Amino acid sequence: MVDIIKIQYEQISKRLQQEVGLTEQQIEEKVNAKVEQLSGLISKEGAAHIIANEYGVKLFEQQSGKLQISNILSGMRNVEVLGMVRAVYEVREFNTEKRSGKVGSFLIADETGPVRIVLWGNQTDLMRDLKEGFIVKIKGGYVKENSGRKEIHLNERADLIINPPGETVNVSLSSSGSYASQSIRKNISDLNENDANVEIAGTIVQAFEPKFFEVCPQCKKRARQREDSFHCEAHGQVIPDYSYVLNVFVDDGTDNIRVVCFSQTADQILKKTKDEVLLLKDSPQLFSSVQTELLGNVIKASGRVTKNAMFDRLEFVARNATYPDPETELQKLKAEVVK
Ligand SMILES: [Zn+2]
Repeated sequence: MVDIIKIQYEQISKRLQQEVGLTEQQIEEKVNAKVEQLSGLISKEGAAHIIANEYGVKLFEQQSGKLQISNILSGMRNVEVLGMVRAVYEVREFNTEKRSGKVGSFLIADETGPVRIVLWGNQTDLMRDLKEGFIVKIKGGYVKENSGRKEIHLNERADLIINPPGETVNVSLSSSGSYASQSIRKNISDLNENDANVEIAGTIVQAFEPKFFEVCPQCKKRARQREDSFHCEAHGQVIPDYSYVLNVFVDDGTDNIRVVCFSQTADQILKKTKDEVLLLKDSPQLFSSVQTELLGNVIKASGRVTKNAMFDRLEFVARNATYPDPETELQKLKAEVVK
């Protein structure tokens, strides 16, 4: 099972009907509203992906196995994580028309970030002995989004193992800002201008033809055309190399943002080599099939946020982009344990 399986609109619609109980017409209306909200910057399929995400309908293969917290996506089931307890909150009893019971929660973190764990009913008893600094392993949790934050919920079938033997987590207790070297996962709606090292994950809802520009092959700075030759300020007349930039819109259900990807990052998103990308320079008509391939796929990107002054909007400049693949993450984790 690898990266992303493309799913047609009809299939998504069927899943929403079966799993959420929406009618075909309701789905159609929601999709059209989403398309309109994004000023047409989204395919119907892309919009359906987002709506499925919003309802927690999982369109990808069932994923299980231990994950880093930053790789947890809303809608995942049977999730396994290992983390250090950072805070334990009070168990609350509730009584509504529909049901009554208990709910409790605590916060854990691994080296990639924090996540809240939510327990229901008798499961809350497991929290009694929990203390800050303990290592816990969660098995069989499912991921929900609550006010834009991901939470791992544990039902009766899920396990909470306290201080599992031989397991450690690389987070120091004292440092609350201990994730500085790691990108912090954020919702797009929570991004702000000063974010220098953040990670987003969302669906590609639009992609634009890459733009190419001539650079000096030695210093990679822009080479300017003078009559029929190119010149670098430092290196004089040169036969230019090419750099490029690819812009895509990514939507995570909270908002969407333009993600700017320069050469190598563009290669990652396009899953192409530089030579393959350069073919698009002379044959831009080839891009429409590339675009179709990109739309509706979920990517994870880390980078920084900048303000585009001309349009008065935020943009995300990606330093690294990947198609999340839990299998690989799992292998990586296993490899680390062996070391
Ligand atoms: Zn140069």
